[in-house]
Amino acid sequence: MEQRRTKIVATIGPASDDPTIIGSLIGAGMDMARLGLAHGPIEETIERIARIRTAASEARRHVGIMVDLPGPKVRAGTFPEAGVTLVEGNLVELIPDERPGATSDATHISVTYADLLDDVTPGDRVPLGDGGVELIIDDVSSDRAVAVVVSGGLLKGRPGVTLATENLKLSTPTPNDFRLLDAVLEVGVDAVAISFVRSPADVERTRSVVGTEGPLLVAKIETRAAVNSIDAVIAASDAVMVARGDLGVRCALEDVPHIQKHIIRSGVSYGRPVITATQMLESMVHAPQPTRAEVTDVANAVFDGTSALMLSGETAIGAHPVAAVATMARIAVRAEKDFDHLGWGARLGREQAAGAEDETSTRMHAAISAAAWRAAIEADVSAILCCTRTGATARSIARFRPVSPIVGITPSTQTARQMGLMWGVEPVVTGEHTSADEIIWFAVEAAVNAGITKPGDVVAVLAGSPYGPEAATDVLRLVRVH
Ligand code: PEP
Repeated sequence: MEQRRTKIVATIGPASDDPTIIGSLIGAGMDMARLGLAHGPIEETIERIARIRTAASEARRHVGIMVDLPGPKVRAGTFPEAGVTLVEGNLVELIPDERPGATSDATHISVTYADLLDDVTPGDRVPLGDGGVELIIDDVSSDRAVAVVVSGGLLKGRPGVTLATENLKLSTPTPNDFRLLDAVLEVGVDAVAISFVRSPADVERTRSVVGTEGPLLVAKIETRAAVNSIDAVIAASDAVMVARGDLGVRCALEDVPHIQKHIIRSGVSYGRPVITATQMLESMVHAPQPTRAEVTDVANAVFDGTSALMLSGETAIGAHPVAAVATMARIAVRAEKDFDHLGWGARLGREQAAGAEDETSTRMHAAISAAAWRAAIEADVSAILCCTRTGATARSIARFRPVSPIVGITPSTQTARQMGLMWGVEPVVTGEHTSADEIIWFAVEAAVNAGITKPGDVVAVLAGSPYGPEAATDVLRLVRVH
């Protein structure tokens, strides 16, 4: 398989949770598996985690697992099986009802949010589902809100009800999110995606539960509030996701490509992997081939500098999950041939410094990875070997999008799996070593053994002395391999 630098996240669901299919997804290029916690019992997720771990170890690959917390998603009660068409100009009543069996029809829509009537006011726009159907609140009384259908269409199942999250009393993560989180932390996961983040405090509350050495915290950017305070949200997170589905409901659709570019550039400059998500190869839910527009969208996300590309329904419920991953991998490899590596690194300029963060160790990572990037170009190294316990140094050097391969050499299998989100970082697990000399020697040996470099090559090695909670990466050495 041709070397690919952009990572692939694939959502596992009923179409892909068979062990053989998980093995094939890994073979086709899945670097991280995503498990949505919004549907199905938690026991099913725990079982899927075990199956993914087994398939990865059989394939001898470091495959990460990311769980996605449901967050405060407000939904409508169930519409009849065949669906209901809301007609433009008609009136509908919105009634708060949190009971699991609550139903909806063409004139009454139950809404799973007890404070609905306090939080909506006449004039509010309320998109339903993917935003194709839209209501405007006309009147609010003590037991219901009346709304006018301004954009009609078919509603099925339990579509999302998008209220202006900025006013919602609901917080994220919700108590239910924390319960789910406890259950998955017990079996161990590598990343946790937080839905509907509005401020850095939402990420910090999650961090207080998972700790600093646990899973990566991925802030899903899908509210206006998060877009408006994007730098602070990025700084509080380990990675971010451009969650284009909900973003496209809360912001003007035509703004989404611009927001995507902005989030990618900011996230990467802070050394945070950025995942571009939703509807990337949507037509492959049914069709064996994507549309030309989808192929172009995936390639453009690569040109934008995304760290990872994500598949949702395509692999979770689609008819061609393995083909979707293989197709995405092919598009990414082709797009990367035209990626402007040197231009990207040069344009980071001052932005690549620690940004808003002024911790000494963060600044040291930034400075030494910038030095490694420059040395890699001038000495024309065959690889950058990045010795990293937490992955922070690997994320830092990946910001520059260097032409040379990056090898993330780590004693931690969790960090190796987390590299499934880091652009261009190839994981290699080694033993624990204490002095910088020893770390560098074993790193070079590990890279030779893995077939990444060979005698006669020059490599750049980044290391810390010693590994430890206080340690920062402080050594850059150019080594001629013997
Ligand atoms: C999105 O909205 O794009 C997204 C990734 O979130 P969800 O989990 O709702 O698909």
